[in-house]
Amino acid sequence: MSVPKKSLNFIEQIIEDDLKNNYTREQLKFRFPPEPNGYLHIGHASSICLNFGLGLKYNAPVNLRFDDTNPTKEEKEYVDAIKRDVKWLGYKWAKECYASDYFQQLYDWAIEMIKNGDAYVDSQTSEAIAEQKGTPTTKGIESPYRNRTVEENLEMFEAMKNGETPEGRDVLRAKISMGAKNMLMRDPIMYRCLHKPHHRTGSEWKIYPMYDWAHGQSDYIEQVSHSFCTLEFQPHRELYNWFAKKVKVADKLKPKQREFARRNLSHTVVSKRKLLLLIEKGFVKSWDDPRMPTISAMRRRGYTPESIINFAESIGIGKRENTVSFSHLEFCVREDLNKKAQRVMAVLNPLKVVITNYPENKEEWLEAENNPEDESAGSRKVPFSRELYIEKEDFREEANRKFFRLKLGKEVRLKNAYIIKAESCVKDDDGNIIEVRCSYDKDSRSGSNTEASKRKVKGTLHWVSVNHAITAQVNLYDRLFKVENPSQDKDVDFLEHINPDSFQSITGYLEPSLANAKIQERFQFQRIGYFCVDKTSTSKQLVFNKTVGLRDSWKG
Ligand code: ATP
Ligand code: MG
Repeated sequence: MSVPKKSLNFIEQIIEDDLKNNYTREQLKFRFPPEPNGYLHIGHASSICLNFGLGLKYNAPVNLRFDDTNPTKEEKEYVDAIKRDVKWLGYKWAKECYASDYFQQLYDWAIEMIKNGDAYVDSQTSEAIAEQKGTPTTKGIESPYRNRTVEENLEMFEAMKNGETPEGRDVLRAKISMGAKNMLMRDPIMYRCLHKPHHRTGSEWKIYPMYDWAHGQSDYIEQVSHSFCTLEFQPHRELYNWFAKKVKVADKLKPKQREFARRNLSHTVVSKRKLLLLIEKGFVKSWDDPRMPTISAMRRRGYTPESIINFAESIGIGKRENTVSFSHLEFCVREDLNKKAQRVMAVLNPLKVVITNYPENKEEWLEAENNPEDESAGSRKVPFSRELYIEKEDFREEANRKFFRLKLGKEVRLKNAYIIKAESCVKDDDGNIIEVRCSYDKDSRSGSNTEASKRKVKGTLHWVSVNHAITAQVNLYDRLFKVENPSQDKDVDFLEHINPDSFQSITGYLEPSLANAKIQERFQFQRIGYFCVDKTSTSKQLVFNKTVGLRDSWKG
């Protein structure tokens, strides 16, 4: 049988075509270029999977390049977080690079450009420069400083570099054309004065290169063959190529910029700037608050690297921007955890069950399978006794025939244990049910091979023994935003769409085997969902995060 061939996405098609025409396999090189001004989010995962995925596919190096050209927003903490996240996803970069390592080279090239009449120092205010830009249908106006002599430009650029020029006074601009159709080609700014210390170069530099100047040249220095970025950079491509021509040395490869569509996720925002605002305004606690769409938050919440990669691969690379449903991401998480997570029993909303015909001081340790999807996961013992907790919503005094859980006069099976029958219930003064009194069929123990054990009853419930249960803080999360696309409406602040009920913390009652659960360990609380031990958890106070709910309860 032939294996169906996966069709190439358009990026792979570009590479295949290039391999036929003008590139050798050995020349292929990619990079993932985050700006260290925040934590990586699920949108970045698409770019990471694209670039590192291509690296694996073509056996080509992929650099991790920090695009660190703006010291006002960038920090070492972000560099470390980004490295941690890419590593956790399972990818290995060929080289760890920094745009800041190229500051000197970029500066030297800028000098060359000034000497060749391709760049000049402009001393106008940023407002004046913006005004002269023109519009897509009208030409821009040339700066009165555009024809400064080379000597004057060199002198002034040096003063900028030495920090003698006050911030905001002069900029270095490429001399292209104020009449260019592409607005970005209208004498773009290459350098601005910024007297801020940089997390790597300290106070060595008083000028910092702009994105367009730094990015393409960094690609060139590293000899990246294909530089993939998101669609909004399409109009920048002309400038990318213009700069490349100015610095190109004959025998070196000229990198190729190509664009793909940004991926958005529903019910959240994927923009570092907006995520930072959520933290600053106190809507979430940190970059790794489990409600955030960051890779760090998803790790903390219990998502697996595989589920994130599967998600990125399943949505693929496209040419048109779209919003992917959060449910699809959760589907990928559930699918992976179903194979990996150990099953345990935990009750989050307890109702006491007393088995009146079960001896008072008796306890039994019953065999429970760890993962029906994975035989090698083995089994464990769970304690059973006369008093148990079940979920409140699993009992009703009366209910119709479709209610397969516990109701008066009817039977259910307790998972891994016995069949019980609800005989009566006890209520408090307000009429709330506080206890269910049951009888059990002592011959019906699961796996005991008796006739009674094989008896079919409709429902199966999870439970924990009251005396053996351990408690834990259980954090439940909901969507961070109430609407699918919080950033859609430009007139409404995205913060107005925040879901005020996205976080809830309750006490859960857990089977005792969980006492030794380690931070980051993932479990399926049977019939409820997947849960992961939070980083704040201690042996005295266990803390679990809900990763994702289960769509289905197990079949009776
Ligand atoms: P943000 O607006 O969140 O800061 P960014 O694009 O400015 O995003 P960078 O750190 O510059 O963030 O991004 C690194 C790489 O990841 C870039 O190549 C960028 O195009 C890509 N990327 C960022 N966001 C997304 C997204 N939502 N979908 C796909 N790729 C993305
Ligand atoms: Mg950015």
